Amino acid sequence: MGANAEMWYYWNRFWELKDVSFIQSIPGMEIFRPAPGVFRILQPLWEIALGLENYVKSPLFPIVLSMCLYVVMVMPWVYIDMYGREWKWIQKYKIQPDKPATWAGIRKAMLLTLWNHLLYLLPISVAQWVWTPDTVLPKIAPTLWDFCVNQYLALAVFDFEYYIWHFSHHKVRFLYKHVHGVHHQYHAPHSWVTQYLHPWELIAVGTFATTSPWIFSSHPMTHWSFMQFSMLISVEAHIGYDLPLMPHNWAPFWGGGIKHDMHHQKPLTNFQPFFNWFDRLMGTECPGQRAGGYKPPELLDWEKKHAELRLLKRKELESKSGLLLNLLDDQAEEDLILDPVN
Ligand SMILES: [Zn+2]
Ligand SMILES: [Zn+2]
Repeated sequence: MGANAEMWYYWNRFWELKDVSFIQSIPGMEIFRPAPGVFRILQPLWEIALGLENYVKSPLFPIVLSMCLYVVMVMPWVYIDMYGREWKWIQKYKIQPDKPATWAGIRKAMLLTLWNHLLYLLPISVAQWVWTPDTVLPKIAPTLWDFCVNQYLALAVFDFEYYIWHFSHHKVRFLYKHVHGVHHQYHAPHSWVTQYLHPWELIAVGTFATTSPWIFSSHPMTHWSFMQFSMLISVEAHIGYDLPLMPHNWAPFWGGGIKHDMHHQKPLTNFQPFFNWFDRLMGTECPGQRAGGYKPPELLDWEKKHAELRLLKRKELESKSGLLLNLLDDQAEEDLILDPVN
């Protein structure tokens, strides 16, 4: 193809617009419906995927991509945790500096992750490969608006689904003891704890991440990107560092890393994985501990208030039963049925 013909080919690809997305079909959102002739900035990237169509249309593609990217996301943090203990420039951001990650703890989490992938995710993936039809790849990329908004909405759905799942797996003792408690063996998370999960939890999380974008009839590019993005912010929630550019420092209603780290310290708080609006609504939000183990005044207030409530509860129970009670704090209560790693 000559240079002119090639330019003409891409020109036609960029400007050939026929599809209308879910968001653009909502009354009032027509303004975001691109008229024919609107440039799609993601088209060159999508052309690369179309060039590899034989591979990317396979239902195995997003799963293999997720597994590979997960290792790429967590390994730098393993290096920092293992070899960077003296690096002050990064260690000053550690949320629980008194509990550094150990090789034994990292190896334990790596082995369970590997085991879960081989024993559960691999057979599910192969079954999907055999029985699910190939993904139909549209010729046109999503608009940037669709790409971003669909992912944000899918994230809100995932966040809500996991909140319900998570809350019930803390409140029902059987579910906590036999399923979610596995994840809470680590009080000070590190990157590999992200998928240190009971297989049932891994399958539930995988299902939420895969199906949430379906609601919005997302483009395959948006769908794949969402799966990787949700995994990236899940890893971010577990690295155990409070870095200046992390979204909890600038995004409204974002819980993120410091809130989830606190959830591992005080398991009956901060049930939302990403945002914090339901925790605020339900009164289960606890302010996060910050870089260097710093406890901000709002966290000290929270701890003081909860210590007082616990004392009141204890006195009330003692006066009813006539016995002297030793009421444990939330963490110790949860540990009674766990085998903590750190
Ligand atoms: Zn966690
Ligand atoms: Zn939990």
